[in-house]
Amino acid sequence: MADLGGGGPARPSDGMALQAAQPVQVDDIALIGGGPVGLFGAFYAGLRGLKTRLFESLPQLGGQLTALYPEKFIYDVPGFPRVQAKVLVAQLVEQAMQFNPQVMLNTPVTGLQQRPDGGIFVLTTARGVFFAKVVIVTAGLGAFSPKKLAAPGVAEFEGKGVHYWLDDLSRFRGRRALVVGGGDSAVDFALMLQPVARHVTLIHRRDGFRAHEQSVKQLYASGVEVLVFHELKRLEGGEAVERAVVFDNRTGAERVLDVQHVVFALGFSADLGPMREWGLELEDEAIRVNSFKMETAVAGVYAAGDIATYPGKVKLIATGFGEVATAVNNACRYIDPSLPVFPGHSSNRKSAGQR
Ligand code: FAD
Repeated sequence: MADLGGGGPARPSDGMALQAAQPVQVDDIALIGGGPVGLFGAFYAGLRGLKTRLFESLPQLGGQLTALYPEKFIYDVPGFPRVQAKVLVAQLVEQAMQFNPQVMLNTPVTGLQQRPDGGIFVLTTARGVFFAKVVIVTAGLGAFSPKKLAAPGVAEFEGKGVHYWLDDLSRFRGRRALVVGGGDSAVDFALMLQPVARHVTLIHRRDGFRAHEQSVKQLYASGVEVLVFHELKRLEGGEAVERAVVFDNRTGAERVLDVQHVVFALGFSADLGPMREWGLELEDEAIRVNSFKMETAVAGVYAAGDIATYPGKVKLIATGFGEVATAVNNACRYIDPSLPVFPGHSSNRKSAGQR
């Protein structure tokens, strides 16, 4: 977390009173979005010796690859004849972490403003405000958030047995869990929980799963109780979830499941949300940039990857990697005009972190 001197980051409610205060810690680059392009940007910024902070609204890195298609194979990333999305993310994370960027998960950036003095950017999040000399927006389709069911009890028990990610398996040990969904994540979650939890039930509203064929076979052989054509009616309990009432959508017959945890895997929605208010030029839900620097309408703010648009734009992971390298190199020059845009080849560098 940023050290602003007086005990941690300033709260967003401090608002732009901060404009008067001198920030103690200013990052060189803030990257907004931890998808493949943000991750490669974090690596590349590290290669150029820049102090980098990466913000991601979800609790996991990888953007669309993690949220939408972790099990699928990708065939058009240079150097990989084929690579599973989740494996590519793991490689990108390893590559980025060589330079120890500050990674802020679960931290959507909601506000972006520039201080009138010195041009430093102020990024607002629920965890406080952060300062950066340059901002690179790598926000893809916008901030991802999990789709939620409106069934009674779901919102009430969020954080009290209702989950949208499996981040800490130990809390499921010896407990009874219900997984809701029919895609890769739902099947993966059920398979991950099965050896840990006392009992796992998976409900899906149809009988066909959208998950990888091999995972579905594994699911049926795993001991997970699979209830197809079943949906959640409501959650019940006191301080936390104690029961889930599910129903067969062909007959309406209800069943009460004794569960302490319910994990929803219903996909994600993406929203540009507050980014619309940041003074950037938008076109078709993307940020307009010039393609030779990846610079937006605001000097010092760059964009790359799916969120960036310019004439001839092609939305591919491979093009996003090139765009973010261009953005970082130009950002370097923006921070210190004495530096060259082209840093030389990485294969010629003597040590890590050279500008
Ligand atoms: P994203 O992957 O969308 O990541 C952006 C991240 O930014 C997200 O995690 C989001 O939560 C975060 N974010 C957004 N706003 C904020 C905020 N305000 N604060 C903090 N975090 C924020 N491309 C290929 O090249 N080859 C393929 O084979 C291929 N297959 C695909 C298959 C499917 C099913 C789909 C859906 C896409 C596929 N793509 C493929 C496209 C590819 O996934 C995208 O081009 C790529 O993910 C773009 O990367 P990105 O980093 O720009 O954005």
